[in-house]
Amino acid sequence: MATGKINVSVDNIFPLIKKFLYSDHEIFLRELISNATDATLKLKHLTAIGEAKVEYGNPLIEVKIDKEGKKLHVIDQGLGMTEEEVKKYINEVAFSGAEEFLNKYEDSAKDAGIIGHFGLGFYSAFMVAHKVEIITKSYKEEPAVHWTCDGSPNFTIEESNKTERGTEIILHIAEDSTEFLEEGRIRELLRKYNKFMPVPIKFGTKTETLPKPEDAKEEDPAPTKEVDNIINNPNPAWTKQPTDLKDEDYKSFYRELYPMQFEEPLFHIHLNVDYPFNLTGILYFPKLTNDLNIQKDKIQLYQNQVFVTDNVEGIVPEFLTMLRGVIDSPDIPLNVSRSYLQADGAVKKISSYITGKVADKLNSLFKNNREDFEKKWNDIKIVIEYGMLSEDKFFEKADKFALYPTVDGAYYTFEELQEKIKGNQTDKDDKMVILYASDKEAQHSYIETAKAKGYEVLLLDSPIIGHLMQKLETTKEKISFARVDADHIDKLIQKEDTQISKLSDEEKEKLKADLEAVFGEKSNYTVQLEAMDSDASPFVITEPEFLRRMKEMQQTGGGGMFGMGNMPEMYNLIVNTNHELVSEILNTKTAKKKERLINQSLDLAKLSKGLLKGADLTNFIKRSYEMVK
Ligand code: ADP
Ligand code: MG
Repeated sequence: MATGKINVSVDNIFPLIKKFLYSDHEIFLRELISNATDATLKLKHLTAIGEAKVEYGNPLIEVKIDKEGKKLHVIDQGLGMTEEEVKKYINEVAFSGAEEFLNKYEDSAKDAGIIGHFGLGFYSAFMVAHKVEIITKSYKEEPAVHWTCDGSPNFTIEESNKTERGTEIILHIAEDSTEFLEEGRIRELLRKYNKFMPVPIKFGTKTETLPKPEDAKEEDPAPTKEVDNIINNPNPAWTKQPTDLKDEDYKSFYRELYPMQFEEPLFHIHLNVDYPFNLTGILYFPKLTNDLNIQKDKIQLYQNQVFVTDNVEGIVPEFLTMLRGVIDSPDIPLNVSRSYLQADGAVKKISSYITGKVADKLNSLFKNNREDFEKKWNDIKIVIEYGMLSEDKFFEKADKFALYPTVDGAYYTFEELQEKIKGNQTDKDDKMVILYASDKEAQHSYIETAKAKGYEVLLLDSPIIGHLMQKLETTKEKISFARVDADHIDKLIQKEDTQISKLSDEEKEKLKADLEAVFGEKSNYTVQLEAMDSDASPFVITEPEFLRRMKEMQQTGGGGMFGMGNMPEMYNLIVNTNHELVSEILNTKTAKKKERLINQSLDLAKLSKGLLKGADLTNFIKRSYEMVK
């Protein structure tokens, strides 16, 4: 038996390994299985090129718990190591990797953000073990080797009688890490990190039911047998060519990724690029609700089929973090902080590649099957609108396929909309006014008034639409958005200068005084007398676009003006001085009747804006019954 000392500059590195990686002890298993996988794939390559003259066969990796012996075994059938290789790769190379890591990250290691993505490699085993053994037999004709290290820089190395090719790593689990002797815990880790690794991983056995033989009797139990319990799918969909996959394959892979998701994805995007960086993956558009906060199932990041993280912030543009699926790229540097990641050139390219791919896919869905695209619009609009707001490149592309639905269920692109309404909805200042509603039911009477004028009314109801309107108003020329209840119809799209009022100035003064006498002080309405068509409504309550939109924008974050979110609603009460009823109010002599007419009219205006509630509503109903008597 030979002994030696690992060449360490720090006196004892193992306590350091434990201390610094405290929050992420569990990654040791991922590291050991990664090494076992590498060793297996290396052997595959060597046999393929004829360099290793051995049978490759169907190798697997086995993870075994020895609860009594307090040991955890990771066994592979890969290329193994000779004594010389153990000395080189374990005592020198691997160790220098571990040492370098600690030197570099001693200060920043407390920032758990980086540690999570780290492999310390082989030495991460010492996070959970007080002693580690390696028993390994190379594919080369050389004796097997047994290496032991007890967490001090001293190791021993001796010959072993292992006959099968491959490597067995034995961890003597430390007192404070006995959770890793629990079957449930190990299964959980294997599922989390190794679910799609390329070499089959065995963890225990399971009972499989076989078909009954033909001559079996009804009451005979079906025969069973014990088979290896393979925990991973070595050939996940994203590693295959899109041409080899059917729609159903993508859907079943989605279920494999998110077993708790019962809703099917709307569509998928297969990513596949090898220049100027390597990246594969599948992204799914899930059905999204308007509630942007609940987001449990996220995009998962892999490196060569090893799970790394489900925090892809910085790698995928923010608006796409609402999607699901996987991204696999060996080119994403993980040993850096998030802020550095965002500044990294390769990562920027990856992010803009993904953005471009998503835009192209949406565009082709729009072009190839517009009807279907329209059907899905409601479920995908948030992502698209958010993307248009946050990424100018995406805005340019999406401007061609983003849809603007009308209250009647038609869908227009911006260009189509413009073509359609330019003639009728351009005001006297040559500005095209786009009318919209946010709630078909609540704004029904306003919508009808606009439609009666031949105007097109959009239905725009997503939570961030105010921000997008703001953006469209500043990027496109001479357009503005106005909600149907932002003003009375002749003012929403003002075509010629105001109509002549039937009332004289004196009469107007009197009318105003009459109105204010009835509800003036207590109301939060600004009375505005307007000369309108005689058949337009006598009283209309409006809510000015600008203030309302700013308020809403502030409620959904960003934009708007500071402090506006808490401002009370502001309403205008527009009184049509050309309407018969208004003349009647003015000319009524009995004060009681006048008051009743005014109250009734105001209540009707409130009613059509959904503002009549409580005692006012009760009084209105009472008064109305009296009037119909
Ligand atoms: P890395 O995997 O990044 O090279 P590690 O510290 O994980 O660093 O491993 C160091 C080296 O030890 C590997 O490069 C490999 O040569 C060798 N090694 C580790 N585990 C095995 C194994 N199971 N079979 C063969 N060689 C191994
Ligand atoms: Mg490794």
